[in-house]
Amino acid sequence: MGKIKTLEEYLAENNFLREAAEFHFKLEKNLTEVEPLELPPREKVLELVRAEKIPLLQQEKFQAQVLDAVEKFLPRDLAESLLRQENLSAKKICAAHELNETLTRKTFWATVDKLIPADLKLWERDDWQENYCPICGRRPVMAQLKKFNDGRERRLLCGGCRTLWSWRRVGCPYCGNENLERIHILELDKKMRLDVCDECRAYLKTYTDEDEENIYLRDWATLHLDLLAEEKTLHKCGAVELE
Ligand SMILES: [Zn+2]
Ligand SMILES: [Zn+2]
Repeated sequence: MGKIKTLEEYLAENNFLREAAEFHFKLEKNLTEVEPLELPPREKVLELVRAEKIPLLQQEKFQAQVLDAVEKFLPRDLAESLLRQENLSAKKICAAHELNETLTRKTFWATVDKLIPADLKLWERDDWQENYCPICGRRPVMAQLKKFNDGRERRLLCGGCRTLWSWRRVGCPYCGNENLERIHILELDKKMRLDVCDECRAYLKTYTDEDEENIYLRDWATLHLDLLAEEKTLHKCGAVELE
């Protein structure tokens, strides 16, 4: 096993990512004062979410907590549209306020990420079985294959609030296709691969190792793989800057 790399070392080797990195570091720095929300204890959250499979932040009470917390940064109606993933309305409000939509989306979701307490960001196999994030309801942006008992389990990563949840090993989380003959894998790197669905043409960037989550579970840190996928006319799903 090789030495665990730091993000800095990784960026030194991948200089083309420097600009994206600077942008995200700056964004995080601007949000250092955002404190996690006061939410019910984990067991209670699980119960609340699993009752009707409605993600926590799509429930009125908790949605209001998020909107109160982000009011300093964003107009409330805009935050509400973004949180509910009402894309058309978010687009209109951004235009009316002359806000850059991509930047606004990234800022909003980076803030939501900070608002969620760390103990709610990992959901085990029995906790949740859906293909959308139990906390915010977004579709996953990436995945990780991680050692689990004698085999490996697949975890999906939410690009919005950055929650990870265990999901079945086989199948496209976007269209539900489970036919192995209609899914293929592109091994692009020692540590990353694309799981491509031949039904909906979506791909899922998957980190196939562990210990370097700080690098490989950041969507922007493997932008070059998205470019490769784009060349193959595959679709990216679940990214915060996309609808
Ligand atoms: Zn989420
Ligand atoms: Zn699919």
